[in-house]
Amino acid sequence: MNMKKIGIVGAGTMGNGITQAFAVAGFDVVMSDVADAALQRGLATLSGSLDRLVKKDKMTEAQKVEAIARVRGSTELGAMSDCDLIIEAATENLALKLKIFEQLDAIAKPEAIIASNTSSISITKLAASTRRADRIIGMHFFNPVPVMALVELIRGLQTSDATYAAVETLAGAVGKTSVQVRNSPGFVVNRLLCPMINEAIFALGEGLASAAEIDEAMKLGCNHPIGPLALGDMIGLDVELAVMQVLFEGFKDPKYRPAPLLVEMVEAGYLGRKSGKGFFDYK
Ligand code: NAD
Repeated sequence: MNMKKIGIVGAGTMGNGITQAFAVAGFDVVMSDVADAALQRGLATLSGSLDRLVKKDKMTEAQKVEAIARVRGSTELGAMSDCDLIIEAATENLALKLKIFEQLDAIAKPEAIIASNTSSISITKLAASTRRADRIIGMHFFNPVPVMALVELIRGLQTSDATYAAVETLAGAVGKTSVQVRNSPGFVVNRLLCPMINEAIFALGEGLASAAEIDEAMKLGCNHPIGPLALGDMIGLDVELAVMQVLFEGFKDPKYRPAPLLVEMVEAGYLGRKSGKGFFDYK
């Protein structure tokens, strides 16, 4: 399938990053959001991000103008009726995503592939809500999308080989390296990363070492570029807790139980960088 036109649902952090990646790679993109204010914010963020690339000499002014000209904003999902691939990157909420998938299934052309950037919702479940379950797949990008090289391609039970192959080719065309992952809670990256951060929080809670020492140990002992507690602060401790809950509930295995100190930090509103305080101070 020769894919030329891409639809992106949601103009937030991930939606506008994914839009940028496709527009810069030469694809026509329709970016939509329910709220016009969110759409305008997304378009402004995209333009600002490309301006910074021009300033850093990573792109010419002409290339920036061309990329922006390839992007059309809309508050209507109907604007995606001629898209070859639609990537849903709306708010993480099962009921909302099921509704969006139902609407997309009705308006998208029959051969179009519909992907979700969800971090935690079952691709198999989203696929089952449509009449094109073989053409539903997960495309899990990482933040910030224009910088991060990976995309996890999540195969639901129904995803066809042809769908996987088409999306894998497309991921390569926007400069991403993909890994193939079976639908499962946390996929690969969050399944491995979040329990490591959670374990660091257990260690801190048990008084094994100070926060600074735990991070120093992992940086110098394992060559990690950032310690697990500083990384938790960067991701957001509420997001870390949400992922641990998805793993715990998904596998019903006590090894994924959230550290009590993590739960308490979130209760206190100490969410990491975004709240100015987490395991370290950011004020
Ligand atoms: P965000 O809150 O920044 O953006 C979500 C956008 O979706 C908002 O602008 C909202 O107005 C819009 N939206 C809500 N309902 C909509 C609808 N019916 N139609 C169109 N747009 C709608 O969220 P985000 O961080 O960009 O996350 C989006 C998705 O990406 C989530 O599924 C999340 O799990 C996933 N994800 C996030 C990250 C991350 O680091 N932020 C990383 C990987 C995956």
